[in-house]
Amino acid sequence: MALNGKVAVVTGAAMGIGKAIAETLLHNGAKVVLLDVNEPVAKSVMKDLNKQYGQDTTLFLRCDVGSDEQIKAAFQKTIETFGGIDIVCNNAGTLDENDWEKTVSINLLGVIRGTYTAMEHMNKLTGGRGGVIINTASTAGIFPGESCPVYTATKHGVVGFTRAMAAASTASGYGIRFNAICPGPVQTQLLSICTSRLGQFSHLGEKLVGQFTEATGILTPSEVAESVLELMTDETKNGEALLILQKEKTYITFPSM
Ligand code: NAD
Repeated sequence: MALNGKVAVVTGAAMGIGKAIAETLLHNGAKVVLLDVNEPVAKSVMKDLNKQYGQDTTLFLRCDVGSDEQIKAAFQKTIETFGGIDIVCNNAGTLDENDWEKTVSINLLGVIRGTYTAMEHMNKLTGGRGGVIINTASTAGIFPGESCPVYTATKHGVVGFTRAMAAASTASGYGIRFNAICPGPVQTQLLSICTSRLGQFSHLGEKLVGQFTEATGILTPSEVAESVLELMTDETKNGEALLILQKEKTYITFPSM
């Protein structure tokens, strides 16, 4: 059990990629705190996981990553319940090009809020026990997603923020490793929003959607979660982004300044 004794927090854990990450972490021995806004679904996921992995291995806390207060309260409750935090997956995300303030607040500011709050507890320089922070970006964090410019901007922001935090951690000795994952299309609710936008964006419509997904392949949430688990190994370097497509997996090490 690679993650025995570790405590992990996963945002956006009620469904899709976040739920699969939570299951994989539990399967490998970690205790997991699920943060999400979808209370009924997340509560039922928590019940199932506690049944499967043992009572008190999983805790759900309602938390909107768009709110500083709620993030702070959720991390505080995690410390009170499990005694520390070793792994944070800032994963919650949305795709709403019309409500772009909401998209920025959840996708980018949510990652920044989650990271800074986690660091208050993890930073070895200030008495924490160190750890790993993994932020969910997207291929749209590396390549242009022309049908979703705001979503693309947030995901480029997640990659840039993760790189900067990794460089700061190396320079200052926080004892925290920062990595980003950049998955291609994954079979979740969010993908249907994405493909419908892609269809509307181009006169090629559905044909373009078909070409896009044929070129990259469609991942399952569990495949992404297995890649996240790979990032838990000590061989992973601080600051790498992992590009995950069905047909290949590539570690992207950005040049340092
Ligand atoms: P999903 O819609 O299946 O799940 C998203 C989860 O986040 C839901 O449980 C939802 O309730 C939760 N959530 C939404 N807003 C929240 C908020 N304000 N606070 C807390 N939780 C909130 O989507 P998914 O595909 O699993 O997406 C997860 C992450 O993966 C996102 O960051 C997304 O951008 C990224 N991603 C998805 C794909 C894809 O093709 N599905 C590809 C690359 C990256």
